[in-house]
Amino acid sequence: MIMTTTSSHAFQPVLERIAEELEHTPGRGRPADYIPALAARDPRSFGMAVAELDGTVYGVGDWREPFSTQSITKVFTLALELSREGDTLWEHVGREPSGNPFNSLVQLEYENGIPRNPFINAGALVVTDRLHTRTDDAAGEFLAFLRAESGNPRLAFDEEVAASESAHGDRNAALAHFMASYGNIGNPVPVLLDQYFRQCSLSASCADLALATSFLARHGIRADGTRLLTRSQAKQVNAVMLTCGTYDAAGDFAYRVGLPGKSGVGGGIIAVVPGRCTLCVWGPGLDERGNSVAGVAALDRFTTLTGLSVF
Ligand code: GLN
Repeated sequence: MIMTTTSSHAFQPVLERIAEELEHTPGRGRPADYIPALAARDPRSFGMAVAELDGTVYGVGDWREPFSTQSITKVFTLALELSREGDTLWEHVGREPSGNPFNSLVQLEYENGIPRNPFINAGALVVTDRLHTRTDDAAGEFLAFLRAESGNPRLAFDEEVAASESAHGDRNAALAHFMASYGNIGNPVPVLLDQYFRQCSLSASCADLALATSFLARHGIRADGTRLLTRSQAKQVNAVMLTCGTYDAAGDFAYRVGLPGKSGVGGGIIAVVPGRCTLCVWGPGLDERGNSVAGVAALDRFTTLTGLSVF
């Protein structure tokens, strides 16, 4: 059944139906354990929220429960840096799918320290480095933006998660040092890693993140009506999310879900229906590529049931 959702209140029954279906789905994957503070989450947790462009939010399950946002944050730092720097950013980070895991080192040497895209770790490190050079407080800028867009002033970093990742951060340190050897990192690597791990540790709920992503569905317009991105830049960020937002599973995600999306190893995924609404779904169990099993399944069902997609 395809129920083309034109009236907004139709979202609530769709969300409830998806949650109900997922209850009966076995196999939720495994929480990330390479950041020990994430490993304790229950893989049966599940929440999903849809935010309309006017800030109305619908939700189901654990949609108000904060979780670790991790790589979802890469979308917001990209938008903040792109809004300030414009196109020269793309001389330092590419915008092609990598076809490799999010923390891979292999392409960097062939490609002279220029990461494939801003949504793998290497690319996000470059973006955060440039944002930090420009603002002297990349993590603070990012947090202020998320608080403003979500309307939740209590959003905060989880210092335990940041410390846990820092203690196990050799791979990100390797990526950052390697790019620094090519002159593609401007700040001292320990300073950059501190900014990046704090950014990744942001704790937020599906409701917070669906609202915070709305500027991408509003073609660059923030919650207060001011413009962060040009219409064209908002389109570009959405395009990079579609092609690179779920790492080496981006093709499968586009096939199944058909929306720009960005995942994180905390089990969250944000997605954008340009001009219509934004979504955030959370289930801590991951597949082998680091994407939430329940999250991808739920978004797949949402676009199938509603017919909402960019295709
Ligand atoms: N903080 C995590 C890392 O750098 C983010 C990765 C992710 O969510 N895919 O490894």
